[in-house]
Amino acid sequence: MMNREEILKFKEGLDDLNVYLSEKQYKQFHMFFDMLQEKNKVMNLTAITEGVGIVQKHFIDSLTIVKAEDMMEIDNMIDIGTGAGFPAIPIKIAFPHVEMVLVDSLDKRVNFVNEVIEALDLKKIRCIHGRAEDLGHDPQLREKFDLCVSRAVANLAVLAEYCMPFVKPQKGSFVAYKAGDLHEEIDMARNSVNMMGGEIKQEIGFFLPYSDISRSLIWIQKEMRTPKMYPRKAGIPSKSPIE
Ligand code: SAM
Repeated sequence: MMNREEILKFKEGLDDLNVYLSEKQYKQFHMFFDMLQEKNKVMNLTAITEGVGIVQKHFIDSLTIVKAEDMMEIDNMIDIGTGAGFPAIPIKIAFPHVEMVLVDSLDKRVNFVNEVIEALDLKKIRCIHGRAEDLGHDPQLREKFDLCVSRAVANLAVLAEYCMPFVKPQKGSFVAYKAGDLHEEIDMARNSVNMMGGEIKQEIGFFLPYSDISRSLIWIQKEMRTPKMYPRKAGIPSKSPIE
């Protein structure tokens, strides 16, 4: 269970983001916290293992999506390279109306996420084992989502090729969770984003609540359809990013 300090950090963060949870939702976060700590003892699930870190750098960080999107306007979303479920699981707990698809190429992480989905009794959510480059061509998933998110998976030029194919043209968006100085990364990615039918609209910089941990969300709007040839075959986007 979270201790007093962890609960306090969590509540401070939620207040700062204006996210309000029911008893049931708090309980789901507690269960997820316990499962992460238990599983991290036996396998390499996430680099962050101590309690306050999980609360701040995983739970609250994931929920900063509210700085970029009005989640009440989002019907469905997809998280590419979700790992142990970030940012998708905290967003799903806090905004249960959102239909959610999670993707990861590592099956031990997908198995863990499926255990979490079952234990927390989450509905309208599934975790798929696969690579973004392959799933981006699946007609059930391609250009079907209001929102695509991704955290700590690749640089922005590569991410654009992974993520933009899933986003609905005209009304959908892609939000990349980032940290550090992004000027160069954004400049390098502009062409790739445009090729995928998108445009970088905003970089939203902030500190995680009550901390000196700086973060950015890059908000990209999809304006046109992604050409059929993208994403290229698995492995190519990261080997030869579009310049
Ligand atoms: N998003 C999580 C987070 O922020 O904690 C996990 C980040 S982890 C550093 C990167 C994850 O992306 C890994 O679990 C990896 O298996 C997955 N990944 C990397 N390339 C991928 C691809 N092309 N398609 C799907 N998943 C991918």
